Amino acid sequence: MHLVEIINLRPRPGGAVFLGLTRRCPLLCRHCSTDSLMNSEQHDAGLFTRFADTFTADEHPELVLMTGGEPLLRPGLVTAIAERARRAGARTALISGMFFAREDRVPDRIAQAIASVDHFVASLDIFHEEQVSRGAVFAVLGRLVEAGMDVSVQAVGLDDEDPYLEELTRDVRETFGGRVPMLVAHVGGAGRAAEWLTTTGGGVHTLAVPAALPCDMAGWPTIAYDGTVLACCNQDVIDRRGPEHLRLGHIGEDGWPEIRRRLTGAPLLRVIRTLGPQPLAQRAGESADGGLCGTCLRFSDQPEVSRQASELTAGETFGAMEQMVEQLHVQAGPTAFARRYGSLRYADLITLGYREEARS
Ligand code: SF4
Repeated sequence: MHLVEIINLRPRPGGAVFLGLTRRCPLLCRHCSTDSLMNSEQHDAGLFTRFADTFTADEHPELVLMTGGEPLLRPGLVTAIAERARRAGARTALISGMFFAREDRVPDRIAQAIASVDHFVASLDIFHEEQVSRGAVFAVLGRLVEAGMDVSVQAVGLDDEDPYLEELTRDVRETFGGRVPMLVAHVGGAGRAAEWLTTTGGGVHTLAVPAALPCDMAGWPTIAYDGTVLACCNQDVIDRRGPEHLRLGHIGEDGWPEIRRRLTGAPLLRVIRTLGPQPLAQRAGESADGGLCGTCLRFSDQPEVSRQASELTAGETFGAMEQMVEQLHVQAGPTAFARRYGSLRYADLITLGYREEARS
């Protein structure tokens, strides 16, 4: 599964789910958004496998994206979830900081876990490189590419002018002959980065986003390492396990069909995805200051916003408008998504190595 195919699913509500398998990580990157340590929280593997057991042939996400912390600290769990997802007809991806690349040889259970998924994402940036050398990461990636695995690099820099990004993206292109796509973004002010990074706002909507934009981040549920399900991947929302209107349940009690129904049916989420938080706030007579996320995060304390959302979604035309916005996102294509939520300068790199005809 190429990175383009993953991003193509982005406009579809419930098209994918982020599954945080652990908060633990053996690396100590200075920008870590989850503030992970080796003794951070980690919950019973059964919590996650039982959730994956609720995927059925009729109701499953198209993609399960396993994250952490470092998900490959639990290779058996990665493999177990990948098997369950595949049985139901879902595909899987895995994002890793590649701590294991420091060893001479990738341990068997980790190699097996990587082989069990449809796409492997290497997280690479100047902070990871302080912990795991680029050469070690490239050596493992090279073997995966040669074995026919779909891989990508997720790189972050301080901004588009960061010389590190220019040098890294050139090196990835040259080393892998343009076969490895990259999703490039900027360091956010969450977790350990909050101690030293100055940003202009909170959340995922801090970069290159026009004021009144529908939020398609509210389309893929994110499951925190303790099983709480949130409607978006804003790190502030994950850390706070809310606010209430962005909390979809808990995988200890709720299976995928129920979570998907809440995600696609909640009036507030439907309006956030279709019109965006700011027009809704203005319609309810509330402030739209603080950008999309800043506005959205206040909604649980604003009953008039919920009332307006219910009224709007009950209208005859809202369903058609919802579909139109989804179609516009689809037509704009994956590079437009990469521009909106990541780097303008490097957005095209998501298509490296993509041959549409080879995948259809
Ligand atoms: S606007 Fe709301 S739903 Fe969208 S990413 Fe921000 S906090 Fe999440």
